[in-house]
Amino acid sequence: MKIKEIYEKKQVLSFEIFPPKRDIALQNIDETLEVLCSLNPDFISVTFGAGGSSNNNRTIELAKRIKKDYHIEPLVHLTCLTYGKNEIDEFIYQLNENGIENILALRGDRNPELKEKEEFLHASDLTGYLKKKTNVCIAGACYPECHPESENRIEDIKNLRTKVSAGADFMVTQLFLDNNRFYSFYEDTRIAGIDIPISAGIMPVINKAQIEKMISLCGVSLPEKFRRIMNKYEHNKEALFDAGMSYAIGQVIDLLASEVDGIHLYTMNNPKVAKKLCDGIKTFI
Ligand code: FAD
Repeated sequence: MKIKEIYEKKQVLSFEIFPPKRDIALQNIDETLEVLCSLNPDFISVTFGAGGSSNNNRTIELAKRIKKDYHIEPLVHLTCLTYGKNEIDEFIYQLNENGIENILALRGDRNPELKEKEEFLHASDLTGYLKKKTNVCIAGACYPECHPESENRIEDIKNLRTKVSAGADFMVTQLFLDNNRFYSFYEDTRIAGIDIPISAGIMPVINKAQIEKMISLCGVSLPEKFRRIMNKYEHNKEALFDAGMSYAIGQVIDLLASEVDGIHLYTMNNPKVAKKLCDGIKTFI
C-alpha cells in the first residue's frame, strides 16, 4: 500500500529502525519489532547508510520482513549523493522484486571520506528521478529548525518546495525537542504553498551523549524545561531515562492533541525505549 493513501484517512503513527550490523544478533530488532507492531503502526521506516555501508543490503531485507512477517507497510530510506543512476536503478529493481512501494528519498550527509558522484546533488534530484522511473510513493526529509547547511528558513523552505514539485508525497521531520518550533515551521510551509502531509519526528533522549550528538549533528535546540530536567538528573542513569521518556511522551500527546498529520518515533532499536514509549502513548492514539 502507498503510505500517502493512509494520510488521507487518519493521523499517521510510524516508527523508525535501523538495520543491525551483520555481526550483531537480530534478537534486539525482533524484540523491538514485536513491541512496535503491538501498537499497529501505519508504517515502519528502515534507515540506509550513506555511501554504501555493507549494512545496506539489510535495509531491504528488514523492510521485506516487516511487510511479510508483521504485515506493516515499510518505508525504505535511500540516499543518493554517492550513487549514480546505475546504482539507483539496481536499488529500484530490488524494491520492485520485493514488492516495496514506499521510499524516503534522501541526499545523505556530506562526508569527506566518501566520493560524491555528481548525478544526484540534492534529494529533489533523486525524487524527480524516482517519480519518472517508478510509481512508488515518495517521502522526503524536512527540518523544523533548518537544515544545518541552510542559511535561513526561507531558503530551506524554498528548497523544500522544489522537492515537493519534484514529486514528494509526504515529509518526515528531523527530531526536535520544542513542539513550538514544529508548529511554526508547519505554518511556514503552508504559507509557502506546500500542502503535503508532514509527520513530526520525536526521539526520546535517554542519555547525555545522545544530547551532545543531537546538538552537534542535527542543530537541535534545547528548551529551558528540557535543560532543567537534564541538569537535575544527568548523574542518575535511571532517572535520566525515565525523565527523557516522559518528556518525549509529553511531546507526543501535545502533537496528537494539536491534530498534526502524523508522528514518527525514533526508538534507536532499543526494546526498552520502544516498550516505555508504546505504553506511554497507547491510550492517546
Ligand atoms: P536535501 O533535501 O537535498 O537538502 C540538503 C541541503 O541542501 C539543505 O540545506 C537544503 O536546503 C539544500 N538544498 C536542497 N535542494 C537544493 C537545491 N535544489 N539547490 C540548493 N540547495 C538545495 N541519512 C542517511 O544517511 N541515512 C538515512 O537513512 C537517513 N534518514 C533520515 C531520515 C529523516 C527523517 C531525516 C530528517 C534525515 C535522515 N538522514 C539520513 C539524514 C539526511 O541524509 C541528512 O540530513 C542530509 O544532510 C540531508 O538530506 P536531505 O534529503 O534532507 O537533503
